[in-house]
Amino acid sequence: MPKGTETVLEINLTALGSNYRFLRSKLNNNTKFMAIVKAFGYGSDAVMIAKELIDLGADYLAVAYVKEGVALRDAGIKAPIVVLHPQPINFDILIDRCLEPSLYSPKVFNQFIEVATNKNQIHYPVHIKFNTGLNRLGFWENDVNYIISNLNESVKIKSIFSHLAASEDLTEKDFSQTQIKMFKSISEKFIKKLKYTPMLHMCNTSGILNFPEAHLDMVRSGIGLYGYGNSEKENHNFIPIATLKSVISQIHQIEKGETVGYNRAFKSDDFIKTATIPIGHADGISRAYGDGKGWVTINGKKAPIIGNVCMDMLMVNIKDIDCYEGDEVILFGEEARADDIAEGIDSISYELITAISQRVKRVFCRK
Ligand SMILES: *Cc1c(COP(=O)(O)O)cnc(C)c1O
Repeated sequence: MPKGTETVLEINLTALGSNYRFLRSKLNNNTKFMAIVKAFGYGSDAVMIAKELIDLGADYLAVAYVKEGVALRDAGIKAPIVVLHPQPINFDILIDRCLEPSLYSPKVFNQFIEVATNKNQIHYPVHIKFNTGLNRLGFWENDVNYIISNLNESVKIKSIFSHLAASEDLTEKDFSQTQIKMFKSISEKFIKKLKYTPMLHMCNTSGILNFPEAHLDMVRSGIGLYGYGNSEKENHNFIPIATLKSVISQIHQIEKGETVGYNRAFKSDDFIKTATIPIGHADGISRAYGDGKGWVTINGKKAPIIGNVCMDMLMVNIKDIDCYEGDEVILFGEEARADDIAEGIDSISYELITAISQRVKRVFCRK
């Protein structure tokens, strides 16, 4: 039985390489790869992951917010970084740190042109986002003329892109294909008026896997790099890179009729043993996992979470598990996959892995 030490998120850089190579193998040689490292590299560690991905051959990095891009620059990363959802208040610093904005609305576009012009920029790289059905961010098709007439020399459009709404859902294949068609037609119209040819991209991980006709000049992958393929079939091709581990701090013997945890949420109808684990909702294990909706793995066996998840710890039922204080506990990893655990609360891998808070120590390995 492996011994635990404390709560750690172990990140396997070899698995990252394997996931990257699998995704690359789906692409033509001339299709570029934008590695998405937003939200601390999907909850792992943005800097280490970004450096590794650059070494592996990723062409571009992307984050959601300016602050995330600044952190990568502070760590000495020189690769081009797209900021997918910048706010005008940060345009000054964005330019100072050579981050490339996604411009997604007339207002944001004009504000960027104004800041870039005031800062005497010539051909500053920007990326124009079109909405083709996700209805989240992006210009509409009929904004093309507006963009063209408000452009000036301060910026150069390096890429035009869009985002699929349901690329992992094959029952929505028609919708995705409509988005792809619409994007191709908008970009054609746009490029004709622009008189130069930016890169085109619209595939996220599931887009890469399900819509090869939409790989275009570049793809943008996040979740696949971290080891999740958004379907049982695709999961076999990926290795989860992060394993969240903890340790049994204490074991309690609970008599029939006794309760466990805050609000006495668990009442035992039997004599059981419980283990207290030093990880709680402040570490990213939501209270929603309480009351048996989530479980941990001890000695290869599932131990359900009982009662309410506390801020700094949670308790599990170890009734039929041979285990001791100091034994290792797995919250999620290669075997107990985050997508399976998230399903218990109607959530998805993305939410569980990105929730692991900065309090949890990150350790790196290659295996
Ligand atoms: C987060 C994000 C991605 C990555 O999506 P995955 O499903 O994780 O591959 C791609 N493009 C945009 C615009 C995003 O916001």
